[in-house]
Amino acid sequence: MTESLRFDENGLEMQDHEVMTMLSFWYVVDRRWFDQWKEFVETGDQNSTSFPGQIDNAELFEDLDSYHLKDRLVEDEDFVLVPAEAWHKLLAWYGIADDQPPLERKVVDLPSTLKVEVYPIEIFLCLHSNMENVITAKFSRTDSIRESVCGAMCQAFSVPPGSECRLWMKSSDSSCERLRNVHMSVLDACLSSGMTVIMETRNADGTWPSSRPQIMRNSVEEQDSYRGQPGVCGLTNLGNTCFMNSALQCLSNTPPLTEYFLQNSYVDELNFTNPLGMKGEIAEAYADVIKQMWSGRHYSVVPRVFKTKVGHFASQFLGYQQHDSQELLSFLLDGLHEDLNRVKNKEYIELRDADGRQDQEVAEEAWRNHLRRNDSVIVDTFHGLFKSTLVCPECHKVSVTFDPFCYLSVPLPVSKERVMEVFFVSLDPYAKPVQHRVVVPKAGKVSDLCSALSEMTSVPPTQMVVADVFNHRFYKIYNMGESLSAILDRDDIFVYELSVLEEQPEEQVLLALYLRERSHYRDYGSGGGSYGTSLFGHPLLLNVPRSSCSQEALYNLFLQRLANGSLSQTEPSCSGDANSADDIDPSEQSGGPAEADGSSEPPAEQPHKPTEEENEEDKQEEACSPSPPANEHPAKRRACHVRRKRLFSIQAVNSNGTTERGMGEGGTQPYVAIDWEPDMKKRFYNENEAEKYVKDPSMEVPQQHMTVQLQQCIELFTTVETLEEENPWYCPVCKKHQLATKKLDLWSLPEVLIIHLKRFSYTKFTREKLDSIVEFPLRDLDFSGFLLRKTLSSEEPPSRYDLIAVSNHYGGLRDGHYTTYAKNKDNGQWYYFDDSKVTYATEDQITSAAYVLFYQRQDKIRKPTLPAPNTGPASSTQTSNDTASCKDDEDDAGPSAAASASSITMETE
Ligand SMILES: [Zn+2]
Repeated sequence: MTESLRFDENGLEMQDHEVMTMLSFWYVVDRRWFDQWKEFVETGDQNSTSFPGQIDNAELFEDLDSYHLKDRLVEDEDFVLVPAEAWHKLLAWYGIADDQPPLERKVVDLPSTLKVEVYPIEIFLCLHSNMENVITAKFSRTDSIRESVCGAMCQAFSVPPGSECRLWMKSSDSSCERLRNVHMSVLDACLSSGMTVIMETRNADGTWPSSRPQIMRNSVEEQDSYRGQPGVCGLTNLGNTCFMNSALQCLSNTPPLTEYFLQNSYVDELNFTNPLGMKGEIAEAYADVIKQMWSGRHYSVVPRVFKTKVGHFASQFLGYQQHDSQELLSFLLDGLHEDLNRVKNKEYIELRDADGRQDQEVAEEAWRNHLRRNDSVIVDTFHGLFKSTLVCPECHKVSVTFDPFCYLSVPLPVSKERVMEVFFVSLDPYAKPVQHRVVVPKAGKVSDLCSALSEMTSVPPTQMVVADVFNHRFYKIYNMGESLSAILDRDDIFVYELSVLEEQPEEQVLLALYLRERSHYRDYGSGGGSYGTSLFGHPLLLNVPRSSCSQEALYNLFLQRLANGSLSQTEPSCSGDANSADDIDPSEQSGGPAEADGSSEPPAEQPHKPTEEENEEDKQEEACSPSPPANEHPAKRRACHVRRKRLFSIQAVNSNGTTERGMGEGGTQPYVAIDWEPDMKKRFYNENEAEKYVKDPSMEVPQQHMTVQLQQCIELFTTVETLEEENPWYCPVCKKHQLATKKLDLWSLPEVLIIHLKRFSYTKFTREKLDSIVEFPLRDLDFSGFLLRKTLSSEEPPSRYDLIAVSNHYGGLRDGHYTTYAKNKDNGQWYYFDDSKVTYATEDQITSAAYVLFYQRQDKIRKPTLPAPNTGPASSTQTSNDTASCKDDEDDAGPSAAASASSITMETE
């Protein structure tokens, strides 16, 4: 096996996703397990402590009963995909923990790409005649409605063959639509997880049961009478689509674009032949949504067709991962532009370098050239021009180009500090772990973390050791010199205080201690007939004199460390416990025979690994007090002439907490586990106490967010920067790639200026969200200072802008929620759009969460044609709670209960 493992090491290398073929299966594997396995294989040392143990996907599941995958797991961060062949080898070699089901996923042929479908669609199925009986079923996006969905329903509900059926689909917001074309795929029908498919069969008299109106009301039709302010209309969340809704609301409230669509100007400009476009489909789907939103007839619109079209042309927006409203905006502006490009045949234009010509001349030439290939309502509204100047560091060649832009991505000043939350475990066995919030240099080392913590705890950094705890074991024990960037914010970092020992450092052992519970049955599957074990509780790190690594010494040491309340308050008293009557042997003192159990061998090199026999012996012969000896009154101790079972036994294990392999070869970290018999654990180990921790006052101090001005961000955008290694510039003089300096300057600005605040910072090693508060003006944002071109004539439009819309992002990288503030073009009132809900907003609310800003140039802003609505306190909210969802509670409790439960996810975030 050893041989084959090494041999196959390369064979298991991840194949590129390009080799995915239809019909192939891939398997989801926990990324941490996979990393550990890779480390294990790379070291080439079969005994290394990185032995990964059984494949364990436990962290990927919501719970271990349903084995439901957690939402929004990210590939290469939470999990990796391995091809079937590799999976079967891994499974044969390592097995899988706790009988977890393999996560087999198939490759699906989506409209624009092949993709491993990590999350199949999960929908509810029921019959119209019995909506109480709902079953859950999973389908691939490529499954056909007719064969897969109908098939599954006919089978599950025993529908007589030959019955005439029709299907309805009900979304989480309870709108119900007929699913007319059963020849479509699940994807094209826009079925998404959480929806319910209802099947009805035709009555014998030829009527359909659903013609009785109370259930199959179409919520859209029902709202026909609604006549609200056009544009004040929510967008239903179709399952993690708040990012799309937010981008759509910003665009919908961009007056020139919306008027273009409402006046049907787009019809004549649809470009069906542009190979860069989407055959007009994106533009038409967008037009439909906008017309519905501005009809004044709906409280909320379901942008289902639009979403499908987006998914068709950009499959990255299909998945469950949290998407970025800016990414979608960028895709959409480009898609609408190409679909509406008035240039039918793009000519080839050779770009000329400035070659020392005047900026004005070069800029005009660049803009003319841009318009020769790109001419659309998007260009008219959103495109501007910036100047880019590159200077070669070697020959000082200066290259000037003028490039169009559709939005400005401006950087945020980055803090050089980082706030970390860690648990400090002190030596005091009665103290609970304390959660601290410390400020460390972002580019700092583990030692900086210890220094910061030292200031709060007065424990010297030299007496600390930092570890990443994961699944009751040490995922990694850090060295002081390691970079803090290796630690992610979501890692559980424990810092342990180490005792000061008199011994020389080389006479000390840093011992990693795990807690395990034995199962009742021998686990013959793992070979060797050892007991099956599972880890629990928090692991510990302690330094121990090499000389006291005997079983007995360790036992007492561990007992002392566990005193912190995790040992049950109802410890058995030393005498008269009926349960332990069998163990009583008055002739022996506590701890007596242990010295003779062979534990004097040097355990650090080869930590003592008791055989099964020895363990049995331990239990029968050894005597020991279950309460911490250190705290025991001598008299009481003397009186304790009882022998009882040990609370636990000690085993040498590997880093994974398993016993089979990796028994610390010289120099590597020793790991031991204390094994509890289930009944002993139940009696003496208080799991509730052990899980408790306290919060240091530093946790209560609200986190300080940096406040910056939008103008500072724009200045940063125009600051000289040096190109990065990954993205060098080819210098035509030196004839090689150079890390040139680059400077951007704004030349001309569009009517509507989109400013994207780069809150998300992705590097190879880190992903973070910058929570700085950006202060931006609501009106009179003056760009004249930022424009390179000084105003030449009085005909030039002024460079003053007013805010018209903001896309907000709340929350972290992955669990975020998007909403929008926007100003209605007709009545000048600000509204807050949160998926299907719309409420009045005031200008002072528009603040901290801003992510994308829409500004309109003042000379283009038209006065509102309607008076602002009365937003006095009495009527300060205009909720658009769709009537359908209210009534929904009254009728069909079955499917709606299930459906609305799943709809909560986005709305409540
Ligand atoms: Zn050069």
